[in-house]
Amino acid sequence: MKLLCAFLSASAMLWAGAPAWDIHARLAADGRRLAVEARFAPGDADAFMVDPAAAPFLSGVEVESAGQWRAVPGGGGRWPVADAEARGAHLRWTFDLGAASRARRSGVRPFGTGFLFRPRVWLLRPETFLPGRAARLVVDTPPGLSFVSGLGPGPSYATRVDDLDGGPEAAFGAFSLTRFAAKGGVIAAIAPDENLPISSSQQSRWFKTAASALEDAYGRLPLPWTAVFLLPVGQGSGVLFGSTRGEGGAAIVVLLGQRVSDEDVTEDWVLTHELIHTALPDLERDHHWLEEGIPTYLEPLLRLREGRETAEAFWDDLRSKLPQGQPQAEDRGLDRTPTWGRTYWGGALFCFVADLRIREASGGKQTLLDALRAMLAAGGIASHDDIRRLLAQGDSALTKPVLVPLYDAWAEHPETVDLDAIWKRLGVTPKDDRAPEGALRQDWGKNGK
Ligand SMILES: [Zn+2]
Repeated sequence: MKLLCAFLSASAMLWAGAPAWDIHARLAADGRRLAVEARFAPGDADAFMVDPAAAPFLSGVEVESAGQWRAVPGGGGRWPVADAEARGAHLRWTFDLGAASRARRSGVRPFGTGFLFRPRVWLLRPETFLPGRAARLVVDTPPGLSFVSGLGPGPSYATRVDDLDGGPEAAFGAFSLTRFAAKGGVIAAIAPDENLPISSSQQSRWFKTAASALEDAYGRLPLPWTAVFLLPVGQGSGVLFGSTRGEGGAAIVVLLGQRVSDEDVTEDWVLTHELIHTALPDLERDHHWLEEGIPTYLEPLLRLREGRETAEAFWDDLRSKLPQGQPQAEDRGLDRTPTWGRTYWGGALFCFVADLRIREASGGKQTLLDALRAMLAAGGIASHDDIRRLLAQGDSALTKPVLVPLYDAWAEHPETVDLDAIWKRLGVTPKDDRAPEGALRQDWGKNGK
């Protein structure tokens, strides 16, 4: 062991077994300022950066050398540190969350009396870095205040450098955290303590419905931990908007209006739609249509399966909305036509046609869900994947490959689907249970296995 060590450089010895980025963040007692201390291993860059919009709120950057701290001159989002690439660097700085939350586009939003952000906002990090290496984030909060992140329950996180550079939302502040456990994981509902327009019984009903829809679709929750931040925006009513972000974990942000009625909760599709996103790996930008197409098609199908939607309403909805996903003039295929219609409803059309072909090929014994469950093994939104590899993984669960052949046909060519012929074959219009595929239609909301 000693001999081996003799061949390592001094800096490599120092870093052996330690995370490449080791970040310790402490929230001040007033809950508005963050003091960060970080050690970066050698091998990255001689300069550190933050996003330009967040840079005005980051100050007091210092580097430690032989126990002495000295200021690092810099600004505009960039701080050069001599020899950091060769020797690593031990830095500290502060970030003013309060001031950042009052600025537009800083990346920090008010969350009750606290703040909602992605950790990259306040994280000074090497300008260029080797991805995939281990990172550690430890967060301390004063009494009465908490930190919660899409990376996991915390307060200490073993993750990767890429997941701190990207990564899901997190929050500091005083808030309630309610855990909804289901098979395979926990969905955490995080809401500010003040002015929440939704009661705890509404919240419970809402989350339990969404969690059981996910269990129905995938046999379990896609990830062990999903953080859902409920953000009241003080205007409008009902559930207004949702967004989901992965990389190393998953965070969903749901915007709520001033009032949320029981009916808003019962009829909401947003939470289930966003949770379905967590089952699919992050894909390249060209394939965003698949990321949106799956939840757009699947969420109403789950309502049908669970009896929360009538078959009539389900088919009426598909019939009226799927045509929005057909190629228009100058379409260049799903991968090359990033319009709203092709992204959401073109993606849903892909899923519907795939579901139909899977049911036809298996005599109704298999459905798109069999393929989606196989695709979940890729790791969900916490990881990144290649679309062709992912679709092949879905096909591997089927009696006959459907997804890759359909992708090859549609990715770069405008394929118009003869929906009227499909509605006729399924006996949707005119309604006909004895249509050639009337039995497939009647079983659409059943397990199919
Ligand atoms: Zn979506």
